[in-house]
Amino acid sequence: MAHVNGLRCRECGREYAADPIYTCEWCFGPLEVAYDYDAIRAATSREQIAAGPATLWRYADLLPVESDVAVDLGTGFTPLVRADRLAAELGLGEVWIKNDTRNPTNSFKDRVVSIAMSKALQFGFKVAACASTGNLANSVAAHAAHAGLRSYVFIPADLEAGKIVTTAVYGGNVVAINGNYDDVNRLCAELAGIYEWAFVNVNMRPYYAEGSKTLAFETAEQLGWQTPDHVVVPIASGSLLTKIHKGFKELHQVGLLDEEPALRVSGAQALGCSPVAAAWLEESDTIRPVKPSTIAKSLAIGNPADGYFALDCIRSTGGACAAVTDDEVVEGMRLLARTEGIFAETAGGVTVATLQRLASEGVVRPDERVVVYITGHGLKTLEAVSPHVGPTATIAPTLDAFHDAFDSEEL
Ligand SMILES: [Zn+2]
Repeated sequence: MAHVNGLRCRECGREYAADPIYTCEWCFGPLEVAYDYDAIRAATSREQIAAGPATLWRYADLLPVESDVAVDLGTGFTPLVRADRLAAELGLGEVWIKNDTRNPTNSFKDRVVSIAMSKALQFGFKVAACASTGNLANSVAAHAAHAGLRSYVFIPADLEAGKIVTTAVYGGNVVAINGNYDDVNRLCAELAGIYEWAFVNVNMRPYYAEGSKTLAFETAEQLGWQTPDHVVVPIASGSLLTKIHKGFKELHQVGLLDEEPALRVSGAQALGCSPVAAAWLEESDTIRPVKPSTIAKSLAIGNPADGYFALDCIRSTGGACAAVTDDEVVEGMRLLARTEGIFAETAGGVTVATLQRLASEGVVRPDERVVVYITGHGLKTLEAVSPHVGPTATIAPTLDAFHDAFDSEEL
């Protein structure tokens, strides 16, 4: 069961009831869930978690919603894959891929939406909505269909075709906006003030964001209740990165990890939308909003809501941040596919290319146990790689044609 005291302002610490609200009335800071950690410590154990379902609901005691109202498509407990061939190419030692392409709608967004949609049902909302760069759209539409809620999903009109089809198929309303994500987000904030809808990443955001912590919970459990030395996480709003760090710390706080986590957290951005990486490189505290221009559309948030918190987390843990070019993104996607058999979307290419960059600079070290978060499936962004890969040969259906096309030495 949930062990929630209420909501608390991340800036001034003022406390609120656990309602569908997201901003502090006093300082306009973001609200987050405040837990009763003593109650969680008393309620949960490694054994009890291991006996739970093979989904993120095995961590229900650490989540802000009752699992008996869960909108559950089977999200979470995705594979943590040892990536020795990738590690060898990059001159690293122990590298693991957390493969979140394996969620119901093929991205990590199913984690946050599971929590937000369950909470929305508990609050009695009849309509689910979101501002999305694509993956969230997929997930909200699917979960709303499963829960029997109406849905309005707002996306930039120039989104990848794959992400529009895989949202619209669930039968909700898909609203394509002539503008970028930041424009979409602004409109949704206005709509959230007018309609009594559950905007998963607006008025449900304090609950929604908690879903990302399950990536840390699973990683620790899958490593035998240990913490990695270094994690590499893509940055869009910055929420995922900060929540993964928070997840490891909470496990220690409730007694599920013996040692206090001392992991380094590094962030990955695409150069065409890299406000956090730019601030990190300039050693500045100011995140300057940018107009996104990158093939990594799922990370294309020019004004990241949690950018400052992500930057602070990277600095305080001794991590780093890098921004990679679109060419490097494609190379990163192909490298991961070629070495590990995992097809990631462009955001995964950003993350792998960043790992490669940080490894070559000696920031990610061969003596570290590294976990890399792959957040979405490559089938969603086929246009990124389709110009670069195709049939090795196209031939007539005869042995002669085959032998003409391939050097017999290599067969
Ligand atoms: Zn406040």
